Amino acid sequence: MADRLKKVQKALIKKDFTGIECTEVRNCIRLEGEMDNWTDIVKAGRAAAKFGYKGVLNDISLKGFTEPAIRAPKISDHSLEGTTPDVMIIGGGVIGCSIARELTRYQLNVLLVDKESDVAMQASSRNDGMIHPGIASHPGTLRGEMNVRGNEMYTQICDELSIPFERWSNLILYSEHFFGFASRFVFARRQRLLGVEGHRVNLKKLHEIEPNITDKAIGAFEFPSSGVLSPYKLTVAFAENAVENGAKVSLDTIVTGMDVEQGKITAVHTNRGTVRPKAVINAAGTFCDKIAQMADDRFFTIHPRKGHLAILDKKQGPLVQRSMGLIGLSQAFSDTKGGGVMRTIDGNVLVGPDAFEQPYREDFSTKRENIDKMLDKHLPLIKGFSKADVITYFAGVRAATYEEEFIIEGSERVQNLIHAAGIQSPGLASAPAIAEEITKITIDRLSKVMDVHKNDKFNPRRRVTPVMAKLSLEEKQAAIEKNPDYGIVVCRCEGISRGEIIDAINSPIPATSIDAIKRRIRPGMGRCQGGFCMPLITGIICEQTGMKPSEVTKSGEGSQLLFEKDGVNVNA
Ligand SMILES: Cc1cc2nc3c(=O)[nH]c(=O)nc-3n(C[C@H](O)[C@H](O)[C@H](O)COP(=O)(O)OP(=O)(O)OC[C@H]3O[C@@H](n4cnc5c(N)ncnc54)[C@H](O)[C@@H]3O)c2cc1C
Repeated sequence: MADRLKKVQKALIKKDFTGIECTEVRNCIRLEGEMDNWTDIVKAGRAAAKFGYKGVLNDISLKGFTEPAIRAPKISDHSLEGTTPDVMIIGGGVIGCSIARELTRYQLNVLLVDKESDVAMQASSRNDGMIHPGIASHPGTLRGEMNVRGNEMYTQICDELSIPFERWSNLILYSEHFFGFASRFVFARRQRLLGVEGHRVNLKKLHEIEPNITDKAIGAFEFPSSGVLSPYKLTVAFAENAVENGAKVSLDTIVTGMDVEQGKITAVHTNRGTVRPKAVINAAGTFCDKIAQMADDRFFTIHPRKGHLAILDKKQGPLVQRSMGLIGLSQAFSDTKGGGVMRTIDGNVLVGPDAFEQPYREDFSTKRENIDKMLDKHLPLIKGFSKADVITYFAGVRAATYEEEFIIEGSERVQNLIHAAGIQSPGLASAPAIAEEITKITIDRLSKVMDVHKNDKFNPRRRVTPVMAKLSLEEKQAAIEKNPDYGIVVCRCEGISRGEIIDAINSPIPATSIDAIKRRIRPGMGRCQGGFCMPLITGIICEQTGMKPSEVTKSGEGSQLLFEKDGVNVNA
C-alpha cells in the first residue's frame, strides 16, 4: 500500500474515525463508509485533504440520510434542441455571468443556462456583497490571488456596468491585546505576500473613525481597499451586458447529463433539448461536483457550508461607516472570516454571516438559534443596535471543497471541459479575476478546434435606465417629462417608480417575478417588505407581459401568489 494512503488511514484512525475505507482513484483519495453525524464526515474529508492528493472524493454516507433531489424546473420543451454554441456555461451565478460577459470580448456563440427562473438565485444573491480586501486568504492560494486581483478590478467594472460601488474599508477588530499582537505578524506577512494595503488603528483613532463602537474592541487593523456592492445587481448587470454583446441566456434550464466520447463532451442533455457545445464551463455552484461527475471528471467533493445573515433597518445604517468584525483565534489562522456588521450599499446594516456544515446543497431556510447566536455575537459591537432593528434574515450556501480552494482549470481528462468550481467565499470579490482566467483557458482550448477572433464590437458599458431615488430634483423632472411613469411611486419605502419597474420587466434578462424585480431595483426591500407594493407590481407584470395574475410568481415555479377558482382570482 502506498505510504500516502497509509498516512490518510492513520490520520482518520487518530480522529477515532474507524471503518472508513480509503482508496486511491486517479490521484484522488476516495473515502467510503457510513457515519452517524455530518460534522464527522466533513472532518474526515478535511483530514484526508492534507496529504497532497488532487482532491478528496468523500463518499461516506450519513446514516439514515438520503440527499434530496436537485430543485428542477417542471417545464420541458425543445427550445435548445440541436443548438451548437461555441461555449456553454452551466450556472447563472456571479461566476457564470461574469464569464459570459468576458467571453463576449471574442466572436463566440455563448450560451449560459441556469435551472432557476432568474440569474443570481443561489449563493450569488445570498451573500454580504462585500468585496473583501483579500487579507483573510492564505498567501499562495488561488483564493488569495483571485481575491486581490478581483478587488482591484471592481472600480472599473462597476463604472462600466453602472453598479453602485464604494470602498468603505474593512476593520478587523480585536478585544484582547494577545489577538492584536499575534494578528500583527499574521497580517504583516499576508499583506506583504498578497499585496494588500492595511494598517493598525489604535483605540483613540478607532473611536474617532467609528464613534459607535463599544468597548468590545480595544483596537483594529484597517484594510482600505475593501468595498461593498449589491451582489445580485452585479450578477444581473454581468448577464445583461453579456446579452447586449451577443450571449444567450436560457433560464429554467437544467443540465441532467452528458455524453462523453474519447475524452470529449459531445452532448449536454437538458430539459429543453440536447445541446452540442464545443466547450463546456462548469460554474454550477454547490452542484459543480455533480456536473464534473456527469463528464466522468469527478476529482473533488462539495461540502455545502451554510451562512445566515440578518438585515437591520436603514435607520441604523449611519451608525457604522465600515464593515467590521471581531477577530478570534480561529479567524486569525483559519479559512473563515467570522462575520460581523457592515453597512450595505443601499444603507441597511447586515449582520453575519455564520458558517455551519450541512448535507443540503439548496436548503436556504433560516434557523432561529443560528440567527440569535449571530445577533448576540455581533450586535453588542455597536452602540444603538438591537434585535428590534432586524427587518428580515436569509441564508446562503457556500460551495466549499475539502481542499478549501478554488478550482479554476481546464479538465485534465476531458478536452472541452473547464471548471470554475469550489467558488466559496470570497467568490464574489474574486469573480472578475476568475472570469479572466477561465476565459483564457477556454480560448486556449477552443483555439485548437476553431479560429477565435476578438469581438471589435464588444461594448463594456451596460445600458442605463433612470434610478429615480438617486436623481436630483431637476434630473427627476426631466425624466418624468420624457416618461410620466417615472413620476408614479409604487414602492413607498424605497421610492421606486412604475417606470423603473417597467424598465426591469423589459430588460435584456426580463424580470417577470416579484423577486426578480426586487433584485434589480429593490421594491419590497424596505420596512414593509413588499406589503404595500406587491399587488401593484403584480398588476404591472400582467400589463407588460400579458401574464394572468395567477401566473405571476414570487420567485419562479411553485411560488404563485394568487390562485384562480372558476376563472376568478383568489389570494393564495
Ligand atoms: C452567506 C454567504 C456570504 C457570503 N459573503 C460573501 C462576500 O461578502 N464576499 C464574497 O466575495 N463572497 C461571499 N460569499 C461567497 C459568494 O457568494 C460565492 O462565492 C459566489 O456567489 C459563488 O458564485 P457561483 O456563481 O459560483 O455560484 P451560485 O451563485 O450558487 O450559482 C451557481 C448556479 O448554478 C446553477 N446550477 C447548479 N446546477 C445546475 C444544473 N444542473 N443545471 C443548470 N444550472 C445549475 C444554480 O441554479 C445556480 O444559480 C458568501 C457566500 C455565502 C453563502
